[in-house]
Amino acid sequence: MGLAEHTSRVVAQFDFSDEELNRHVDEFLKQANAGLKQDGTSLSQIPSYVTAVPNGTEKGIYLAVDLGGTNFRVCSVSLNGDSTFNLVYNKVAIPKNLMVAKTARDLFAFLAKQIELFLREHHRDHFESAAHRRSTMSFPEGYRDEQIFRLGFTFSFPVQQLGINKGKLIRWTKGFDIPDAVGKDVCKLLQDEIDRLGLPVKVAALVNDTVGTLMARSYTSAGKHRSLLGAIFGTGTNGAYIEKTASITKPIPGEYDKSTGEMVINTEWGSFDNELNVLPSTVWDQTLDRESVNPGIQMYEKRVSGMFLGEIVRLAINDMMKDDEASLFRDTNSSYNDWSTTTNVSPQSGLLSQWGLDTAVLSVAAADNTPELSTIRQELENTLQVYTPSLEDAQAFKAVAGAVVRRAARLAAVAIGAIVLQSGKLDDPEEELIDIGVDGSLVEHYPFFRDMIYEALRAIEGIGPSGANKIRIGIAKDGSGVGAALIALIAQKME
Ligand code: ADP
Repeated sequence: MGLAEHTSRVVAQFDFSDEELNRHVDEFLKQANAGLKQDGTSLSQIPSYVTAVPNGTEKGIYLAVDLGGTNFRVCSVSLNGDSTFNLVYNKVAIPKNLMVAKTARDLFAFLAKQIELFLREHHRDHFESAAHRRSTMSFPEGYRDEQIFRLGFTFSFPVQQLGINKGKLIRWTKGFDIPDAVGKDVCKLLQDEIDRLGLPVKVAALVNDTVGTLMARSYTSAGKHRSLLGAIFGTGTNGAYIEKTASITKPIPGEYDKSTGEMVINTEWGSFDNELNVLPSTVWDQTLDRESVNPGIQMYEKRVSGMFLGEIVRLAINDMMKDDEASLFRDTNSSYNDWSTTTNVSPQSGLLSQWGLDTAVLSVAAADNTPELSTIRQELENTLQVYTPSLEDAQAFKAVAGAVVRRAARLAAVAIGAIVLQSGKLDDPEEELIDIGVDGSLVEHYPFFRDMIYEALRAIEGIGPSGANKIRIGIAKDGSGVGAALIALIAQKME
């Protein structure tokens, strides 16, 4: 069997037929509805307490901060009321010692200090007049209500949300470990430190980045068509959409505005199918899962998002490299033959180490349609240290990479299509357009990712070509900035 035939066999393992696509949509709908009825299901379906989405006419200046990993970002957003906004921000790396600080106060005092520095730099007038008033009175009495900035706090760690500005930290991830913060309300931790500095700031909303994406999209692009869904396809994947509160039959513990009859739900769809084994599973998916830090968890995310696609391709390519018959990357004149007589891949190549193949390389492969595939060959040589890859090598790499991402896009359509069906908006003659905002490097930069999603949407029963035509998927930028600001505004209206 030659390389081309071997490649076809590998590619075929990533086929995801229309029939499977439809079966997955049914299963997604089942799990989504189960998550609305009770906790502890595969899709968490977390109520966000956000009960309205913007329509572009919102106005005012709001603050937003984002604590998600290595950096802390503080920004102020001027919403101009015409779907546009102006945003200024400061970004600072979180000192390593604060990620594992003794007490939560150490970290949150640092965060509050950054907010103070930001206000001094960018809102000096406001800050000084407020500070002057404070010399006679203490916060919050020192400020008139309209002088107090409302702040949206994007906090990308697992929290149990108990209200629009209340949520208990469940556990730290991403290298943070401050035990005394666990179980506490993170908004209060931040507010207490802000108050200690006497800043004119109220933590108005606790924001999930996916909910922020939905808000940002709805403000900037929806116009009279409010957006239904915000979805992220970046390092991970997740989505948040508008659900009828009548359909959320599990208890919602905190207070919320009941007048709209709707609430944004954070699906946490990355964990779709954690236990049910309906997702497609090649040997490479299984190896990836087994060797991951969280086997058996986030199974949908492991087939869909940027962090994992490169690794699936790497594992498949690795097996092909080892197979004498496949004859991939076998140049007998290779300079690496002293290391291995069978392949012309450097021992240092990312192809040989876990996470060594960045998903960005798959975009390069997809974009190269030259007859000689010269860009891919260059990328293989420069980035992955493959010695003089042949045209056939590059064709094999492109085909496998394309197959893995195509399956990911079709799986992405499962979640998107299911949410569209769940909304019932396709059958509503009043709704001429269903708007969806997406964010993340994969959907932004991988060529034709959205087109592959559309192709799959057309094949979903109940959507079809006419339904797919009603769906508009557009990029939503900066959910943790403008999205968080918008949620702070919505929260202010509820005060
Ligand atoms: P995050 O989700 O962490 O906010 P991004 O949206 O930038 O950040 O997503 C980062 C992920 O996207 C990484 O897994 C990376 O491998 C992948 N990625 C980065 N650039 C590209 C690209 N050009 N094409 C496809 N995937 C990419």
